[in-house]
Amino acid sequence: MMGNAAAGMVFNIMRFSVSDGPGIRTTVFLKGCPLHCVWCHNPESIDRDPEILIRQERCIRCGSCAEDCEEHAIVRVGDRYETDRDLCIACGGCIDACAADAREMVGRKMRTDEVMEDVLRDRLFYERSGGGVTFSGGEPLLQHEFLRELLTTCKQEGLHTAVDTTGFTTPAILQDIAALTDLFLFDLKSVDDGIHTRFTGVSNEIILANLRRLAEWNASVIVRIPIVPGVNDDAGSITKAGAFVASLKTVKELHLLPYHRTGVAKLERLGKKNGGPDFLPPDWEHLNELVGLLREHVETVCVGG
Ligand code: SF4
Ligand code: SF4
Repeated sequence: MMGNAAAGMVFNIMRFSVSDGPGIRTTVFLKGCPLHCVWCHNPESIDRDPEILIRQERCIRCGSCAEDCEEHAIVRVGDRYETDRDLCIACGGCIDACAADAREMVGRKMRTDEVMEDVLRDRLFYERSGGGVTFSGGEPLLQHEFLRELLTTCKQEGLHTAVDTTGFTTPAILQDIAALTDLFLFDLKSVDDGIHTRFTGVSNEIILANLRRLAEWNASVIVRIPIVPGVNDDAGSITKAGAFVASLKTVKELHLLPYHRTGVAKLERLGKKNGGPDFLPPDWEHLNELVGLLREHVETVCVGG
């Protein structure tokens, strides 16, 4: 249909999303992220390459996957068949060998026209609800050539575009993408550099500078703060974040995204460990207190996407 040639690594396309921007949307998740947040809700998004995921609850312990794997990457450990991530080349052979449907590939290379074919299916819903398309991750700006082509095609199709970003990119890439983006969902983990570095693996210096840039360019931005108990949910941290957002002048909306534990099960399926503490979701009373504190600084504050 569109004849575009660019391709990138996609790990999910979610239709009828209502928490990644206005209206009914399709969210396209691009694989790969430069941050390593210890609470990550989508740990399958971090690695740029495809990965094998195993649902142990479906496994019937038949051993067919281990027999078929030419790389000898699957070994029996106790009563489980586990994949050695260093040996696995993500060929997918074990998926075909598994009659129990316990193994799955996360991440596949898709061309722009393939992504757009999925996206355009719900055009009617976008038009009726004021929705559109959101590109998320991982960090979608990491695949910025692919993202640019997707956004360009969306604009040609008259679709509203949103980009959910960590803000960890170069000013040149940010500017390039901002020209094609109707709304940024900008994830701000912490304005404290020590906390940011400790829990995400990178300094927030580039991120805060890029958020300031977007505000100076008068881009449409909603700041989203993941609320992770013990990391950034104390009154001091939240007040500092609110004051920072208020200093941006053109940014008027802030959403709090409460930590949830779906990432824990995903990590287990990937055979990974987060190496951080065991977090619990925040309670609603506490979230309401944080909303109250933030409303002293920012015009619109809500919980959720
Ligand atoms: S994807 Fe290929 S290399 Fe990896 S475990 Fe399965 S069969 Fe082995
Ligand atoms: S082939 Fe599937 S069901 Fe059999 S051991 Fe491997 S993962 Fe389990």
